Amino acid sequence: MLLRGSLFHLLLSLVVCGQSTKITVDLIDIAPMEQRLRAFPLKNDERQGRARLLFEDIKCPKIVEVPLGKKDVPANVVCIYPGENQKMIWVGAHFDKVSAGEGKIDNATGVVLLSALAKSLASVPRRHTFVFSAFADEEKGLLGSAALVKKGIEGVKGKELMAGISGMVNIDSVGAGATAVALSSSDKEFAGIAFKLAEQLQLGLRSVNVDQVGQSDGASFQKQGVRVVEFHSLDNSNWQILHSPKDTMEAFRGKEYHETYKLLAFFLAQLDLYLDR
Ligand SMILES: [Zn+2]
Repeated sequence: MLLRGSLFHLLLSLVVCGQSTKITVDLIDIAPMEQRLRAFPLKNDERQGRARLLFEDIKCPKIVEVPLGKKDVPANVVCIYPGENQKMIWVGAHFDKVSAGEGKIDNATGVVLLSALAKSLASVPRRHTFVFSAFADEEKGLLGSAALVKKGIEGVKGKELMAGISGMVNIDSVGAGATAVALSSSDKEFAGIAFKLAEQLQLGLRSVNVDQVGQSDGASFQKQGVRVVEFHSLDNSNWQILHSPKDTMEAFRGKEYHETYKLLAFFLAQLDLYLDR
């Protein structure tokens, strides 16, 4: 999370989008996820290496690095799972941290989730091409995601790439509390699907806007006209953890984190079925 101010605006909203479908995902336990989180490095270049290693561990079919074009800055790491069609669903989380704290909540939790979600979805063929991207330098002003949307990947230029993205799911600062969606900076229909799913799965989901607190990489995609939904776990009781010495495993809430993971795994599978029909 790129911090901006300190005020929180709380808003509760429910958008319902009725659709009954069978969703298949392969869930993993909280224990290995927590272990990866504890072992997540503190230096940004090592964090980039760890993001890549997590993708390698799950045997991601294609891993691409997208440099920011500046010296001594770690590149974005992108993992691609080709689907039945070319249309893409992107899932993103930044790997970098500020100097204070250990950056466990902001945003090692997001990066560990990326690989867990990728593995969960890989159990059955998906319609969309899923792209999981660990962004560099979010904390310096969304630099990694901004470079990526501009440059594109694999010879596909930014504009063309953006046109092929049916939805982008951004994960920043989860695991400090119950799952929250930043409704004000999210596509309302996507948020509605998430709320409906949460209800069906009996998992908590709240709407907590973070415009007053900061921005995250979803904004880089939104600027290019991509439909974005942003998930976090922040509220008035815990946002002060960010960018402080308190951002350690002490702030981590395993039960809530695993619920976030479950909800997002089902949500991504649902988006895959729902979009571009
Ligand atoms: Zn941050």
